[in-house]
Amino acid sequence: MKYLSTRGDATGAEGPRSFCDILLEGLAPDGGLYLPVQLPQVDAATLARWRGLHYAELAFEILRLFIDDIPPADLERLCRATYTESVFGTPQITPLRPLQPLGDGLFLQALSNGPTLAFKDMAMQLLGALFEYELGRRGTRLNILGATSGDTGSAAEHAMRGKRGLAVFMLSPAGRMSPFQQAQMYSLQDANIHNLAVDGVFDDCQDIVKAVSADLAFKRRWQIGTVNSINWARLLAQVVYYFAGYFQATTGPGQRVSFAVPSGNFGNLCAGHLARMMGLPISRLVLATNENDVLDEFFRTGTYRVRAGAVETSSPSMDISRASNFERFVFELLGRDPARTRALFEGGSFTLAPEEHRRCAGFGIVSGRSTHADRLATMREVWARCGLMVDPHTACGLKVALEVMREHPEPGVPMIVLETAQPAKFEVTLREALGPQAPAPGRPPALQDLESRPRRCTPMPADAAAVKRYIETHAVASAAAA
Ligand SMILES: *Cc1c(COP(=O)(O)O)cnc(C)c1O
Repeated sequence: MKYLSTRGDATGAEGPRSFCDILLEGLAPDGGLYLPVQLPQVDAATLARWRGLHYAELAFEILRLFIDDIPPADLERLCRATYTESVFGTPQITPLRPLQPLGDGLFLQALSNGPTLAFKDMAMQLLGALFEYELGRRGTRLNILGATSGDTGSAAEHAMRGKRGLAVFMLSPAGRMSPFQQAQMYSLQDANIHNLAVDGVFDDCQDIVKAVSADLAFKRRWQIGTVNSINWARLLAQVVYYFAGYFQATTGPGQRVSFAVPSGNFGNLCAGHLARMMGLPISRLVLATNENDVLDEFFRTGTYRVRAGAVETSSPSMDISRASNFERFVFELLGRDPARTRALFEGGSFTLAPEEHRRCAGFGIVSGRSTHADRLATMREVWARCGLMVDPHTACGLKVALEVMREHPEPGVPMIVLETAQPAKFEVTLREALGPQAPAPGRPPALQDLESRPRRCTPMPADAAAVKRYIETHAVASAAAA
């Protein structure tokens, strides 16, 4: 399988790119995002064969359709080592739970049982295994530089800790993450994980990453890379749980399901869109945003209006002003027209022609949004009627899913809401919703003492030069070739 960029460049300096060529990259050199030259198609016989596979085996079967430059036996071993009960808490990895009292055929699919209790672990854990494998094969190294306001940074650190040939330099705004999120990152003691607590806000952290990455000589010399949400391998790993959810909610061929997806950068929903285009019988993909509703606005009106900045909400992992994966969807929507895609995204904001906008419905996408009050009300309702606590991101998905089920019912088609984080990560909002008398949200036994563990974190001024100096003295050595 070869890959092309949404802006048209189909070849690198050494010819068409394969999976491992783009594994360690973010943006394509022409500024676009990578997609496979053509999407593999999955027919009913294949679906029947995959039904009943363990998650790790299912991941292997799907990944091998997209990856032809890793020997199948190695790929299978990496999938098996990644999706284990000990890492993801359950043998099903992404178990489904019915929410019958709230709606007929309504389910919650848990994607947040990984080490950092958010769905980013689903992809990041595999990325860590793939990175270590490929760096070992090449005998090189990667110094990952990133900025985080919470979930991405901790998922990356927990996936890359202790990996050979890899170091992580993660900038976070000092004192601005939730106590749980801070503890999750700062308590890691691995020598290859570097928490840099920047004296500033999240935007300062992002500006530093941009400034360091813009210094191409520095970037090449220290082999600086990123693990942001546009990475193709992350997206590919996320395709798997749509299949896993489908198999759990259905009993045989001929059935369809819908998914509701709490969305920010459009990575999660884009993976569902890919699964649907591969032939997974998905009826609707329900996109749910918070007050940062740039995507909801697009799907309702056909206008993509990038915001000056994101507003802070009680679902912080969805606080975005532009959706970094959205270009992949528009590229498909416009019949894979790279010149048009480039023109639209270089311009920033745009409006599609009415007939182009109407095609979105053909892709099954329906959208909605939630406010802080909506999320609190949903958290209360799920607790009262199902005895279940959900986090504010998942509550956003549930709120919009229930709305769609009420306004456009599809009898007999299960609606699967993706649970993107565990409530323990967002205890303050949970208390606000459920009141002081509600019990504390549960957390895995291994994390009981998280906040009291010793911390390893270096304070940093908001200064790219200081961060560069730190990287120069702490960069990792190359992985020895296997
Ligand atoms: C990242 C994240 C999201 C948004 O996912 P996208 O792929 O950016 O759309 C939603 N909920 C949680 C908890 C997250 O961490």
